[in-house]
Amino acid sequence: MPDIPFWNKCNNKCVMCTNMGVFAAQPPLRYGLKHQIEKLERYLKGFGPVYLKNADKADFISLTGGEPTLHPDFFKLLAYFRKRLPEIGVTLLSNGRRFADKDFTERFLKIAKPPFTVAVALHGSSAPVHDRVAGIKGAFSQTVKGLENLFAGLKERDGVGLEIRLVLHRMNIKNFREFLLFLLKKFPVRDPYRVAAIHYEIEGMALENHKTLALRLSASAGIVNAAAPLITKFPDFGLYHFPLCLVKKDLRSKCRITLPAEDRTYTRKCAGCRARKKCPGLMVEYYKKFGDGELRTQKGIG
Ligand code: SF4
Repeated sequence: MPDIPFWNKCNNKCVMCTNMGVFAAQPPLRYGLKHQIEKLERYLKGFGPVYLKNADKADFISLTGGEPTLHPDFFKLLAYFRKRLPEIGVTLLSNGRRFADKDFTERFLKIAKPPFTVAVALHGSSAPVHDRVAGIKGAFSQTVKGLENLFAGLKERDGVGLEIRLVLHRMNIKNFREFLLFLLKKFPVRDPYRVAAIHYEIEGMALENHKTLALRLSASAGIVNAAAPLITKFPDFGLYHFPLCLVKKDLRSKCRITLPAEDRTYTRKCAGCRARKKCPGLMVEYYKKFGDGELRTQKGIG
């Protein structure tokens, strides 16, 4: 199943958003309840290309935005998707702010039947770091409150997972260690959840804001590598978009391939590399900007 943009408006203005500005400017009716249901039914009947991203994936679905939880018929639409796709794993990508409302969270958790994961983006360990990236004052406290409500609700909901996502770029990379310490203190790992640290993707607003965001993978991986003792305290930790040759050996098992093949590339340095099979390679847009000078062909790992 593909990535499905549930709603095209957002209440954050994240500097590294992968959407283009024109996406949010589209008429909201294109994402209305009736239109979304018609699209899903067309897709399920196999009527041509309906969704653009990850259309070849059959075993999971990502509900994206904008901010999906802002959809005026969010609960009705979510219930419809769950009913029509009862066995498919659903991941809802959210900035988490609507979950600051406890009633909203409780209503949501009644509909979000497993297999279901809520993935919430957190941009740093404090309001100054997070709110600067999100472009909204007060976003951090709402997102953290939302996470608290989700954690509280999920205690009674087996099979619904929670993931906290940190997209790394120049504006927050120096905060990485503090971010991990913040999570360990605020959300102790006895509450099972996944953390994903993601090197930013250069598209949409992230491309427009690239001067502000520009961060080489080697610099990002250097800080991630230095934090290995903290990372290993988390039972479930994923590193997305990092070539294996830049990540220290202890952490390589945490690297995941999450982008479709057309968005990744393997360069001449990868040709004789024994890590290639399990390696995400380089993001195509990253390669265009920075080349492959940082890669180190691996001779000794398979
Ligand atoms: S050289 Fe290429 S295939 Fe090998 S680890 Fe680096 S990016 Fe991956």
